[in-house]
This record gives sequence, C-alpha cells and structure tokens, in this order.
Amino acid sequence: MDIPRIFNITESAHRIHNPYTPEKLATLGAALRLKPGDHVLDLGSGSGEMLCTWARDYGITGTGIDMSQLFFKQAELRADELGVVDKIRFIHGDAAGYIADKKVDVAACVGATWIGGGVAGTIKLLAQSLRTGGIILIGEPYWLQLPPTETIAKGCLANAIADFCTLPELVASFGELNYDVVEMVLADQDGWDRYEAAKWLTMRRWLEDNPNDEFSKEVRDLLTTEPKRYVTYTRDYLGWGAFALMARQE
Ligand code: SAH
Repeated sequence: MDIPRIFNITESAHRIHNPYTPEKLATLGAALRLKPGDHVLDLGSGSGEMLCTWARDYGITGTGIDMSQLFFKQAELRADELGVVDKIRFIHGDAAGYIADKKVDVAACVGATWIGGGVAGTIKLLAQSLRTGGIILIGEPYWLQLPPTETIAKGCLANAIADFCTLPELVASFGELNYDVVEMVLADQDGWDRYEAAKWLTMRRWLEDNPNDEFSKEVRDLLTTEPKRYVTYTRDYLGWGAFALMARQE
C-alpha cells in the first residue's frame, strides 16, 4: 500500500508536507494550548513533524496514520531523533474510516481531507474519535482570490473552482456544520515557497541520481514547468490554513 510514487519523489526531503514553516507549526501547537499528556490523532500524518515536535515542545502523546511507506518511515526516524518514541505511535495504512479505540483530545487532518471525502466528511470521521469538548483540527486550502476562470483553477492544480472555498466561505462552512472556529493559523507565501520550491531542488537531485528511472521523464517535465506554474497560479491564488473547531452545544 502506498501513495502515487511522484509524491514520494518530489516530497522526499520535506519534513512538513504543507505550506507551513516550522514556526507556523509551533504557533499552531501553542495556539491550541495543548497540555502534557493530551492525545492527538493525526490522519495523514506525513513525515510526523507535527506530532513529533508537539510531543517534544508541549508533551503531547499521539497517533499518526499515513499511507506513504516513505513518509511513515521518516516519521518513525523523526520520533527517534527527537526522543519521543515513547509518546508517539505511527501506523502505516489507509486512514479512511479510521476511528481511535480511545477518545482523543485533538483529532486532526492537516492537508489530507480527501481521506474523509472532503472537509465535511473528514470532520464527521474525526468526530467519532473525539472526546466531548475536544478539538478538531482541519488543514485546508482556500482561494485567496477567486480564480476568474477554470483554467486558472486548473493552474493551481484544482480540478475546478468549486474544489475550494474563499476564506470567508470556508470559515462559514464550519459554522454551518455546527462547529465554532476557536483558533486559526494561516500559512503565507513564504511558507508556500518552502513547500513548493523545496520540491524543485529535490527533483533536480533525484534526476541526477536516477537518470534511467522510468519516472525520469515525468520528473524532468515537472522540474521544467513547475516553477513558472507555481508563481503564475498557486502563489497568488491559493491560501492555506489550519482551523481548530469545537462542536457547538446542542
Ligand atoms: N499532515 C502532513 C501531511 C500532509 S500531505 C503534513 O502536514 O505534513 C498529505 C498526506 O496524506 C501524505 O503524507 C500522504 O501520504 C497521506 N495520505 C494520502 N492518502 C492517505 C490515506 N488514504 N490514508 C492515510 N494517509 C494518506
């Protein structure tokens, strides 16, 4: 079981697989006012940076599930490196439908809401693992400015304009699901550059190391086109943020 190989190539050197910088990730952890021993469930935990650094910095415990063999392995190495193997457990697997045995304090899906079939479905899934009064954390893109054409949306690697909301629409949508938005940390363009531009050097080095790989043409084409695509579309049109939600009382 694995994710499409292209992501394991282009994001192999990423610790954070989203437009957050390490500082933003720490800001989010602080914003959530985590207490030592709080348990955080993370669906699509990537290379485990959120759980591992929050375990080190805020004393949380956690469970992360990710479908990428490579990212899962990197997460285990990171936990070892930061001395938090006794606090964090990583599972290699499909997080779709995953429900924790024991209710958690924070249930997160940061940049992988397709796992629950979209934002609403993922909130529903996470809610099944959450203790009463716990926090759901959703990381999701939104339109900084609405693309004037579908071509521009596709340039941002969306299938259509309808794939994402504007920030006001996204925030309002949480309310419509009967959740309070209780915290929010938004990425910025510098963070987007770290996420996207870091792929370019990784691709370049990978091409030098793997000239005869069956993927080399695909990676070559991406490295040729990605910098211009990114600065033309994603950088100006797409925002990204993590939103902390608490269910409104009945
Ligand atoms: N939350 C992490 C990773 C976000 S990238 C971070 O912010 O760094 C999206 C992640 O979802 C990738 O690590 C990918 O391997 C994982 N993924 C994709 N489909 C998945 C699935 N069905 N189950 C579990 N993980 C999945």
